[in-house]
Amino acid sequence: MSNIIAIVGRPNVGKSTLFNRMTESRKAIVDESAGVTRDRQYGKGVWNGIEFSIIDTGGYAVNSEDIFEGEIRKQVMLAIEEADAILFVVDVENGVTDMDEEVAAVLRRSKKNVFIAVNKVDNNARIIDSHEFYSLGLGELYCISSMTGSGTGELLDAIVDTF
Ligand code: GDP
Ligand code: MG
Repeated sequence: MSNIIAIVGRPNVGKSTLFNRMTESRKAIVDESAGVTRDRQYGKGVWNGIEFSIIDTGGYAVNSEDIFEGEIRKQVMLAIEEADAILFVVDVENGVTDMDEEVAAVLRRSKKNVFIAVNKVDNNARIIDSHEFYSLGLGELYCISSMTGSGTGELLDAIVDTF
């Protein structure tokens, strides 16, 4: 299996909303989800004629800080092992958090293609706010709104270009 995208990031940044957007419009021409587990959900999509698999992570409970930090780290390590491209989602409403910095540090050391999506950029005013995520040192920022779909096409263009 190749062309695997793994979505990682803190809870509530919009990973599952993005996953649904990247898979749902392709249901008619791809298989149903390969499988669903409690903490990982698998889907398929196609963009610019290139098929990919996509893994949504983090369907776990978020009421304990310790549990979720451990879980996020585990998912990031799994993503580095299994995925061809890692989609790191952050939230412009919260700005850069300590957990974002920790995840970014691990991803910077990996040899994988990492794409950083600044989500919830629902309007142009929020583009300015997104610039603080350059501090994570992961290169170009993809400003997206998973809710409206804004920016997600450019993001997918860049990802499938590496496949
Ligand atoms: P996950 O925990 O990272 O999978 O995040 P979810 O996809 O479950 O989304 C968490 C919350 O953020 C939900 O209330 C979503 O409706 C909201 N959300 C997701 N994407 C966007 C977006 O682009 N803009 C805004 N304003 N809210 C969003
Ligand atoms: Mg989710």
